[in-house]
This record gives sequence, structure tokens and C-alpha cells, in this order.
Amino acid sequence: MSRVFNFGAGPAGLPVEVLEEARDQMLDFQGSGMSIMEHSHRGKEYDAVHQEAVANVKSLLQLDADHEVLFLQGGASLQFAMLPMNLLGAGQTADYIHTGAWSGKAVKEAKLIGKVHLAADVSKASPARIPTPGELVLTPGAAYVHMTTNETIDGTEWWDFPRTEAPLVADMSSDILSRPFDANQFGLIYAGAQKNLGPSGLCMVVIRKDLAARSPATLSSMLRYATHLEENSLYNTPPTFGIYILMLVTRWIKAMGAANLYRQNREKAAKLYAAIDGSGGFYRGTAAPECRSNMNVTFRLPGEALEEQFVKEASKQAMKGLKGHRAVGGIRASIYNAFPLAGIDALAAFMRDFQRKNG
Ligand code: PMP
Repeated sequence: MSRVFNFGAGPAGLPVEVLEEARDQMLDFQGSGMSIMEHSHRGKEYDAVHQEAVANVKSLLQLDADHEVLFLQGGASLQFAMLPMNLLGAGQTADYIHTGAWSGKAVKEAKLIGKVHLAADVSKASPARIPTPGELVLTPGAAYVHMTTNETIDGTEWWDFPRTEAPLVADMSSDILSRPFDANQFGLIYAGAQKNLGPSGLCMVVIRKDLAARSPATLSSMLRYATHLEENSLYNTPPTFGIYILMLVTRWIKAMGAANLYRQNREKAAKLYAAIDGSGGFYRGTAAPECRSNMNVTFRLPGEALEEQFVKEASKQAMKGLKGHRAVGGIRASIYNAFPLAGIDALAAFMRDFQRKNG
């Protein structure tokens, strides 16, 4: 078996230990004679998996009793719509902080439901960045304030969250559980699982329970947070295999120690940014240094032809998925929780070598 270094933005690499465990249990989950995928979502085997997944997230995020963890479907993209459907009442305004491609999609969906105010718009800034606290113009009495804590395409990440009167809502799809933060500060957090948590097909939501009461009475059951809250995410058949993998991934984080993981994430990103900054301008980071993401390291080379060659040659050396998002081009190294240190060293060495030959 030879595994490549997967720099893909998502679905992304999973911890090898998690894949091995899932493989070992695939045909006969804990001696039950069937895989976890084949178990009823109402049976005791799956119930234990579900409970542990919720408990692991609660413990890693140090959630208080006011917050609950939900496992939903439809990806983070459904949350772009479900959020305003539930929390943006008639006549109310929702504040959105527009920082790039993904916050833009959240804005677009919210506008279909209700009134949106852009509390700041730095989406066209070059270098890419997040707004300073002074740039935020919040609406008094807003239904909520929405932010994207890590812009996966633009390569920016928030390092200080705003304190807001209205409930703060965050799309944390690309940096959930990658660093310490106060989750209880948030009214709602959502994250597609396929980068830091598990496979696609599963979206994790952390909700302050009182907010679930806001949903309009006409909203269909599957789209109401209250439904999933009341039924412990078991109103209908949940994506059981995805939740099983998330349980293993969160178990893996707990075993490693969250603090160790966070330190490792910092070190991994710092090595790549050092390679960029030490290249004398051959590699150019696309994000402002103080807003650089530890999850998605974005940079350019002198010309698109060289970028194409870079991606091609890296791929030959088992470094896959380095092509930047089609909307922005360039190079993007996505290095989520499970991305191994050895892959960082391999890429940094490749970057030096590539520059020596082509610089
Ligand atoms: N938000 C962010 C920050 C993302 O990176 C992504 C996916 N790359 C999404 C939302 C959309 O997620 P999904 O594909 O699960 O709908």
C-alpha cells in the first residue's frame, strides 16, 4: 500500500488510524455480525456510536449545557439556507461579514429568505484579508451575525472573533476543531464534515438551544432545528457511517490531545509560510500575513504555466490536490488536522527544489 500526501481542500485526508479501525470493523462491528452501516439507527450498537460522537464533540469544544450538537445532512450548503429559514424572522435583518467565496454563498442564500446587511465586505481585497474590528458596522437588534471563520478558497482565517450583541453564527467548515476557541460564545456553528471531522454527507451543527424556538411554524419538519434537537438528530435515518467516522476522528483527537493537535497545526502552516516567505518572491502568498489560514495555504508562482507545471510535478511525487480553486487559480495546500507533518516537509523540500530548477 502506498498512500499519497492529499492536499485536497475537501473531501480531505482522514487519520490513517481511523481508516484502519473502520477497515478492521467493516464486516463485523464489535462481534455483532454486521457492519455499523447495516445496523439500525435505533439499535444499541449504533446508539453507543451516536452518543460517543456527541459526547466527544461536547468535550472537545467544552460546550456548556445551553448548547447541543446536531448531525444533519445537506452539507454546509444547506445550512446557508436553513439558518435564515429558522433564525431570520419577518422584518428582521441579519448581519453578514463578507470575507470571500464561501461567505458570499451564505449571503446569497440568506437574501432569498430575508433582509441582509453586509456588516463588512472585504471579499474583493487583495491581498485577501478579514476585516479589522473597526470596519464592522453591525445592525442594532440584528437577528444574528454570520461569519466564515476560515475562507477555504481565499486562504484567510479569523484569529479574534468579534463580540456581538446578536447571536454570533459561524461557518467553521474548514477550521472546526483545528484550534482552541470559545465555542460557547456562538449562537450557532456549522461545519461540513469532509475536512476536519470525517466523510462528506454529514454536517455538524452546534446550536444554543433557545435559538431553535425561533423557527416559523410553517417551516417543514426536516428543515427545523427544533425537530433535530428534540429527536437527538434521529428524527429520520441519519448518515450513520459518517457519524461513526466522526466519532473515530474525535476519539483520535482526544487521544492525541487537542492542545498537541493545535500546536502541530500551527507548526505545519508556519513551515509552509516560511517556505513562501523565504523564496525571495518566487512564491507569493495571496493572503495578508496577519490573516493567513493555518488550514489552507494559498500562493502564486510567476505565471500560470509555472503553476501548472508545479502541480503536475508535485503530483508525480505523490503530492496531490495542490491546484487552487478554479475561481481563483494559483496553488492551495490544504493541511487539515489529519494531514501529516511528513507531507509538509515533502512539500517544502519540493518547493525549494522547484524554485532552484525554474526560478
Ligand atoms: N463553507 C466552507 C467554508 C467550505 O469550505 C465549504 C466546502 N468547501 C462549504 C461551506 C460547502 O460545504 P458543503 O460542500 O458541505 O455544502
